[in-house]
Amino acid sequence: MTRYFNEKDVNPQALKAQKITVVGYGSQGRAHALSLRDSGLAVTVALRPGGKSWATATQDGFKPQEVAGAVREADVVMVLVPDMNQPKLFQDVLNENLRDGVLLLFAHGFAVHYNRVALSEKWDVGLVAPKGPGNLVRQQYEQGRGVPCLLAVHQDHSGNAFERTLAYAHGIGGTRAGVLETTFKEETETDLFGEQAVLCGGTTALLTAGWETLVEAGYSPELAYFECLHELKLIVDLLYEGGLSRMHHFVSDTASYGDLTRGTRVVDNATKARMRVLLEEIQSGEFAREWSTEHDQGSPNYAAALENMREHPIEKVGAQLRERMAWLQ
Ligand code: NAD
Ligand code: MG
Repeated sequence: MTRYFNEKDVNPQALKAQKITVVGYGSQGRAHALSLRDSGLAVTVALRPGGKSWATATQDGFKPQEVAGAVREADVVMVLVPDMNQPKLFQDVLNENLRDGVLLLFAHGFAVHYNRVALSEKWDVGLVAPKGPGNLVRQQYEQGRGVPCLLAVHQDHSGNAFERTLAYAHGIGGTRAGVLETTFKEETETDLFGEQAVLCGGTTALLTAGWETLVEAGYSPELAYFECLHELKLIVDLLYEGGLSRMHHFVSDTASYGDLTRGTRVVDNATKARMRVLLEEIQSGEFAREWSTEHDQGSPNYAAALENMREHPIEKVGAQLRERMAWLQ
């Protein structure tokens, strides 16, 4: 059974008088740094000088510092630069500047789980992964609520890695919603699988295939867009609020019957078998190797695939239809 932690499980002293450095000030970095500061903790933002984030952090009242200097003094360092930038950040800056006993934190396990970074055994290494984008993490914190977080401890050198990691999750509001214990392996592999098979890959392939099926059969591209992409939001909102039952309760009986009798003819056991292959490529490290090599070579295939996606006619018709949706402007 997964362990679940709340505010009452937090040792409020665990991060008292500890210096926290947040490296990166993007989606997650900004949300973490602002909320930790509002929680009364000592936060420094570390960045490359002159970048766009430097100006944003300054506007938010931080005095950003260069990474090397900011992490040298830190008791806790949260790494919130993109996963693919982390190996170089460790080689160039973190390995020589992090001090013994530091609690090194990540918001996604990729770099650690796939051994993309070298870790000193004199560090504590933990994970605090909010299950939501940075703007939601921050908005919920400001409203006195929180986004659920995953927590894991990979290395416990100091003997208090867990309580410091939990106190960090508390500092960004995570304990208000509940903190679930996991491992770097589980967080990384489920995160990658979810985005590939269901959330991003599975969904875009499904709606594009549906749109193409209607258009190839002679139906209007505009109507096909409404049916296969636009209305997805209504369905996802219902699923998000109350699972499959709520969705079935709110759509028409005709839609509900069509779902129950037709859905598994589209996504069947053969689809599931291919999902298992994706999962195996994640588990074996094959996906991580492919993507890291692609990134290190300047992402030529990724850029071409993005361009290809942008050229798809569903993008053209969508852009025209969205211009008429005043609430999106
Ligand atoms: P982001 O792209 O929004 O921001 C990255 C930040 O890092 C920027 O401020 C950039 O200027 C800075 N940066 C990049 N390279 C740097 C370097 N070498 N030195 C210093 N600063 C550098 O990234 P993000 O989406 O916030 O992702 C950060 C981490 O959080 C990743 O591990 C990601 O997997 C994880 N995560 C993201 C989300 C999300 O919703 N975006 C959710 C959960 C976990
Ligand atoms: Mg993900």
